[in-house]
Amino acid sequence: MRCRHVEAVDPVPPRTTGCEECLKLGMQWVHLRLCLTCGHVGCCDSSPGRHATAHFHETTHPIIASFQPGERWAWCYADEVELPVPPAAEPLLRD
Ligand SMILES: [Zn+2]
Ligand SMILES: [Zn+2]
Ligand SMILES: [Zn+2]
Repeated sequence: MRCRHVEAVDPVPPRTTGCEECLKLGMQWVHLRLCLTCGHVGCCDSSPGRHATAHFHETTHPIIASFQPGERWAWCYADEVELPVPPAAEPLLRD
């Protein structure tokens, strides 16, 4: 299936350097994901908070990219498909 959401995102810079909710709640995360719609940084599904997925359910922002150093992949929650990182998001990700 082809993802139509990825063409619509206009990536904005990350709002925080760690998971936004975990930082507020004093929780620990495993890996980080960046919402390409609004710049929300959330933790992955292996983290206790699963805040990246929670953010999708709250906002329906469909596309996240890995916010792990050196990782380059994106994911559409709506289509459940892995995507290449959109070129506009590349400068926002971590080396
Ligand atoms: Zn999609
Ligand atoms: Zn979190
Ligand atoms: Zn978002």
